[in-house]
Amino acid sequence: MSYEDIWNKAQKEASATKQRKPQRHEESRLQESCVTWFRLQYPKLALLLFAVPNGGKRTHRTIVRAGRVITYSPEAKQMKKEGVTAGVADLILLTPSNGYASLCIEMKTTEKGSEQRESQKVWQQAAEGAGNKYVVCRTLEEFMAVVKEYLTTEKPPTSK
Ligand SMILES: [Mg+2]
Repeated sequence: MSYEDIWNKAQKEASATKQRKPQRHEESRLQESCVTWFRLQYPKLALLLFAVPNGGKRTHRTIVRAGRVITYSPEAKQMKKEGVTAGVADLILLTPSNGYASLCIEMKTTEKGSEQRESQKVWQQAAEGAGNKYVVCRTLEEFMAVVKEYLTTEKPPTSK
């Protein structure tokens, strides 16, 4: 394989990554709407709903070493060391309710192909196993319903 072939292959892979952008952008806009609504609806809890920035853009370096293209992100490597974990939900509402420790929300869109990744399913199991509620939300309406239900505490039966 010539240097040119290797470089063309790397460019092709880079453009394939770029094609995923619109979906990520739509999810980003949806998440923004959800957070805006939440902050207006629950001002006292505003600080307890936060995003986990484990997705998104990373700077990548592509180098050719011994005829092989190596693409890596020094930034991602460091973030992993600092605790960034694959699969963690996009939003966490850090307040206990109805026996759950917290509400973990994974944002997806209604678009085809917007599904949980394997690492997200693994993290979901870990979160649920530790007593947290985990949901996937695809629309603002769904998010609103999920949050309202989560925060509506069931009143204990009145004793006579
Ligand atoms: Mg997501």
